[in-house]
Amino acid sequence: MQPSPLEGRGCREATGEGNGLYPERAQIPHPALRATFSPQGERVSSTPMTAAAHMSRALALAAARVGRTGDNPSVGCVIEKNGAIIAEAATAEGGRPHAEEQALARAGERARGATAYVTLEPCAKRTSGALSCADRLIQAGVARVVIAARDPHPFASGVGVERLRAAGIGVEVGLFADEARAQNADFFARWGG
Ligand SMILES: [Zn+2]
Repeated sequence: MQPSPLEGRGCREATGEGNGLYPERAQIPHPALRATFSPQGERVSSTPMTAAAHMSRALALAAARVGRTGDNPSVGCVIEKNGAIIAEAATAEGGRPHAEEQALARAGERARGATAYVTLEPCAKRTSGALSCADRLIQAGVARVVIAARDPHPFASGVGVERLRAAGIGVEVGLFADEARAQNADFFARWGG
């Protein structure tokens, strides 16, 4: 068996005491975290522990809004650049605006080249006719999007991911997927996720 590339990298310290969410799980080398290493163990994107910390933060933001977003799921979004969080948001009360929409507005031009951590796959189509979050991420020039869970809706699942990838954005899916699904269990149950 190959040793995990995370072993001996000081996960406990790097994860930090302060993110306050799933501290035990964050120390476990998650398959999605291992995917950020090449087979040779070289780092190919931001460090796994940085990714875990930022997604944990996004989950914490979403957790604070659960039950207050109407029919919409509660979603968290953290925008990171050079290891620092430049903007963050959760789905607004009542379900709009979406988390990505608010975080991108706060980040402004600084979002160019940044990484967005989102707890649910960004929407690719809005019933209101408003610009979708996938399109907003593309327009903002985000370089990479890390998604916890795919949209469970049969007509939406994977569409946001494909839209982003088609625009040349690096997309990773599955970091803390179980936690993200658990946060919006009703929403996932409703759409057969
Ligand atoms: Zn959206």
